[in-house]
Amino acid sequence: MSAPADRPGHGAAFTGHMYTMSWTAGRGWHAPGLRRLANLSVHPGTLGLHYGQVIFEGLKAFRHPGGGMAMFRPRLNALRFQRSARRLAMPELPAADFLLALEEVVAADHAALSDDPEHSLYLRPLMYGSEANLMLRPSEEYEFLVLAFVAGGFFGDTVAPVSVFVSHDHSRALPGGTGDVKCAANYGPSFVAQRAAADAGCQQVVWLDSVEHRWVEEMGGMNLFFVRGTGSSAEVITSPLTGTLLPGVTRDSLLVLAARHGYRVTEERISVDQWRTECAAGLITETFACGTAAVVTPVGRVVDQGRSSWTVGDGTMGPVTAHLRTALTDVQRGRSADPDGWLHLVPSAAHRTYSGGS
Ligand SMILES: *Cc1c(COP(=O)(O)O)cnc(C)c1O
Repeated sequence: MSAPADRPGHGAAFTGHMYTMSWTAGRGWHAPGLRRLANLSVHPGTLGLHYGQVIFEGLKAFRHPGGGMAMFRPRLNALRFQRSARRLAMPELPAADFLLALEEVVAADHAALSDDPEHSLYLRPLMYGSEANLMLRPSEEYEFLVLAFVAGGFFGDTVAPVSVFVSHDHSRALPGGTGDVKCAANYGPSFVAQRAAADAGCQQVVWLDSVEHRWVEEMGGMNLFFVRGTGSSAEVITSPLTGTLLPGVTRDSLLVLAARHGYRVTEERISVDQWRTECAAGLITETFACGTAAVVTPVGRVVDQGRSSWTVGDGTMGPVTAHLRTALTDVQRGRSADPDGWLHLVPSAAHRTYSGGS
């Protein structure tokens, strides 16, 4: 499926290339290379297909005013990919090889990206257990790949507030589970809750912790922030990383930027009852979700399944949300200083070496 170049749908406008590399027990990583995007040929007994030994990442590359391409904090994705691999008993990919694979795809396909400043190249690394074997044990062969697609706005090209549905029927993650890594098995089970949200007239599902069913953890595939108060004395709050939240690169970046812009920054668990009562009392003034795909997206309305519903602030994007969104996108797109070295410029010509090994 392709989408019009002026308004690419999220995840549809794939570029022309992919990068692939293989791992086998005893041999380690081998056969790296860029190739034309093409169908994979997999054995019907492919282990990852049956048992979910599949992990992925998501990050973006942006075209900068000078014409060059830059990726945003890809080293954090490389490290998170390694953590995901460890959790699923898969081989770790050296960070240097992960970065090189991303660079190759960006260098090959950056022309697919228009000059529209709202658009970016979304990069999708993936690794799956590729051995044709249905023993219930880790695969002894793996395929790593990187695909790319042109991304517009995740919720369309505007930043309209979303309505959210707090699910009490379904949980995303449990203590000791896989909620803090990016494995494919976390997402399929979320679709039924997403559908329940849509049936309730909402665009997104909000996940509560799975033990007390009380603490607000995440929204869909995004981290959540709350704002208490207004103006320069506002407090910016997000849940601590309890082990059942995905440690987002965007979350981490916004914590740094919020502090730099003078906001008080707190990692604090917020219960769903607190969210409602503090909104009613005017204490919580804004709520927004954040992630690579949707950047910073305001939450306008909350439906707490079977209980109550309320509006956050006046239901539109609040000033702190707008400020942080701009602060983040300005760094990503090279419009403001990058004091932390978050941008990883992509060399246009390749002189590539591979670390090899396992
Ligand atoms: C990917 C993801 C996020 C956001 O992570 P970023 O690194 O900011 O893109 C948040 N929550 C979940 C469940 C995710 O899968």
